[in-house]
Amino acid sequence: MRTENLIDGGWRGADSGRMFEVTDPATDQPLASVPSCGTTETRMAIEAAARALPGWRARTAMDRGAILRRLAELMIGAQDRLAALMTAEQGKPLAESKGEIAYAAAFVDWAAEEGKRVYGETVPASHADKRILVLRQPVGVTAAITPWNFPAAMITRKLGPALAAGCTMIVKPAEQTPLTALALAELCVEAGVPPGVVNVITGDAKAIGEELLANPTVRKLSFTGSTEVGRILMRNAAQNLTRLSLELGGHAPFLVFADADLDRAVQGLMAAKFRNMGQTCICANRVFVEAPVHDEFCARLEEAVAGLRIGRGDEAGVQVGPLIDDDAIAKVERHVADAAAKGAVVRAGGARARIEGLADRFYLPTILAGCTAAMAVCREETFGPVVPLIRFDDEADAIARANDSPFGLAAYFYTRDASRLMRVAEALEYGIVGANDGAPSTAQAPFGGVKHSGFGREGGRYVMHEYLDVKYVSWAL
Ligand code: ADP
Repeated sequence: MRTENLIDGGWRGADSGRMFEVTDPATDQPLASVPSCGTTETRMAIEAAARALPGWRARTAMDRGAILRRLAELMIGAQDRLAALMTAEQGKPLAESKGEIAYAAAFVDWAAEEGKRVYGETVPASHADKRILVLRQPVGVTAAITPWNFPAAMITRKLGPALAAGCTMIVKPAEQTPLTALALAELCVEAGVPPGVVNVITGDAKAIGEELLANPTVRKLSFTGSTEVGRILMRNAAQNLTRLSLELGGHAPFLVFADADLDRAVQGLMAAKFRNMGQTCICANRVFVEAPVHDEFCARLEEAVAGLRIGRGDEAGVQVGPLIDDDAIAKVERHVADAAAKGAVVRAGGARARIEGLADRFYLPTILAGCTAAMAVCREETFGPVVPLIRFDDEADAIARANDSPFGLAAYFYTRDASRLMRVAEALEYGIVGANDGAPSTAQAPFGGVKHSGFGREGGRYVMHEYLDVKYVSWAL
């Protein structure tokens, strides 16, 4: 297991020698200690990335693509090992970890190809003796700060396109899940990524984040995490007008219309809600069900939820693992208690699942019926395995309630009416809409939000824009 940081092609610890412990959220067992780096090491990584930039930028897109494809292949080759590491430090079921490694590798593979299609333009000029050329050039030294819920994919969806575009990068993974990030760094080296092109540092988030934005060499920061931290980064980015992509919190509505295929809707909700124990920024958080099918939908959902197996992520057949930490489970408890106090009916779960020999961090998959906008579950991201059900009577009213949130990342709805499908898809104020689809994430589509969910897109051809500057050359003949 790799525990040192990767800076300038070398493996090293913090200058201070300080380390912090990584533990298994299912058992509280220590897994490893990793360096607790700060300003000094961040500066070293930035300098290494700056030194590596001219050489990397000058390579052809084919060359860079070949290295990235090798990286994607190495990830798939190491899928089982990486998945086991991810489950150990993050807690998600092994099948989900394997899925995430494939998903993470797909971003690298996609970027390897997309880098070859960074086309420029020629534009008709208004003078006969002039030519206008539009070039797209790498932004330069970039940085990524990533969260713990997708320890591999949140890195590769930034690192893949950055490298494909000709940028170099400093990655700061979440303190809960640095081991997957360091394992990926090792594969980068094995794939032939030159020294300094990728640097991975672990440690003091605030100190590292501040240096990344105070240092004028860093031209772009891509962040996935909470809206609260996104705001801090945006304020700090003002110093050097550092370009930003921010993928922040969500509060996804999930609408089930009376004409929906209810079985598909239940299946979609199970995927959109319980993946990663409800700890994803696109998890369904408010489930609106049209009155005529409300009770039937609830009954079928209860049946599906009763079939979920809870336990350690590395146990065969487990679908629901532990929450990431004590604060996470305390928040879920608080939300459920608040909803119950305000009149919600607990139709399933509603309590911790205490499992012999394991940490007290498991929460039963929960269904709350009769929820209203006055409850915290309907206003804030719960980030846990809780389904709040809300009854509705009218399409326009359901859309208005779905849009009544400061967040705008993902939304879902189920209907069999084609006119309604387009109407609702257009009316939802969200960056991602799952129309009869509970699992919309994929490497070739642009992922990102509006409003307090941030800006910038990851995936598809759109992501390349995040790592490219546009330059125009006005050429007088
Ligand atoms: P979450 O609530 O999902 O943990 P955070 O926004 O706190 O989300 O964390 C996402 C990432 O942001 C992590 O890598 C974390 O270490 C980092 N982070 C937290 N606080 C700061 C900060 N003040 N500056 C820079 N990065 C930070």
